[in-house]
Amino acid sequence: MANIIDGKKISAELKQELKEKVAQYKEQGIEICLAVIQVGNDKASSVYVGNKKKACEFVGIKSLSYELPEETTEEELLNLVQELNDRADVNGILVQLPLPKHIDENKVIKAIHPLKDVDGFHPESVGALSIGNKGFISCTPYGIVELLKRTGVEMDGKECVVVGRSNIVGKPMAILMLRENATVTVAHSHTKNLREICKRADILIVAIGKPKFIDDSYVKDGAVVIDVGIHRNEDNKLCGDVDFDKVEPVASAITPVPGGVGPMTIAMLMKNCVNAVDIQKQ
Ligand code: NDP
Repeated sequence: MANIIDGKKISAELKQELKEKVAQYKEQGIEICLAVIQVGNDKASSVYVGNKKKACEFVGIKSLSYELPEETTEEELLNLVQELNDRADVNGILVQLPLPKHIDENKVIKAIHPLKDVDGFHPESVGALSIGNKGFISCTPYGIVELLKRTGVEMDGKECVVVGRSNIVGKPMAILMLRENATVTVAHSHTKNLREICKRADILIVAIGKPKFIDDSYVKDGAVVIDVGIHRNEDNKLCGDVDFDKVEPVASAITPVPGGVGPMTIAMLMKNCVNAVDIQKQ
């Protein structure tokens, strides 16, 4: 029986610690402020934005909310980002993705000042992560390292296989695991013998975006399995990229969906907002 890694509990502990840190900052006269921008009213985005605002409230971070109409132009959005870049009272800027098709996401990501890039998507943040400099780290992979550390999973010298190479999950994940001294393999849709490669892993991190793709035939006995995927199945229930029922009996530890990686993502956004105080001292 695998240890079920409780992301809900771990994220609650982390948010409690951050709340205490934010209170200490307040005593020193430092108030942390996050600006959250949403363009259009995509339902899923509204839920994410709502959860982010709730987390800010809990931790004690001030949040400024910009809900812009779908027809907002790229120029208008870039002007707002610039205005927030210039405001000394704003520590973090988050533009909820995806943006409407007529707006170039990359242009908007690049417009956010790297010292306020709490999502960690700016090329400068990615570069800093790659060479081990101080900077913001993409929240989902950052949260996975935190989950592994707080569960007591040893990463040093372990074989880690990351399935998926997206800019927001797979690639930063691989860099973070390298930083923890794991031996890292990154697999993707062109990888040959995926099953054999996954079977080598002491730590298998799956971010493919395909429901229940990874079953027990991909998993070594006793491996730690981290499932990043989120999907709704035919019965409208949430499931991951890993077939939990098949993999759980062979793994030593596994994240469930929901309640595994998901809750950590917002907690790490809060951590990035708190880290902003230090990063902005540069
Ligand atoms: P992307 O679609 O951007 O990337 C998927 C990656 O998986 C690609 O690198 C792709 O390879 C690879 N891939 C696809 N099919 C295969 C295959 N058959 N074999 C091997 N590799 C394959 O997804 P994201 O990284 O953005 O997200 C992955 C999952 O995680 C999604 O379910 C998403 O909803 C979820 N997610 C969850 C978050 C959370 O907070 N819990 C946050 C972010 C994402 P290639 O590059 O060759 O195309």
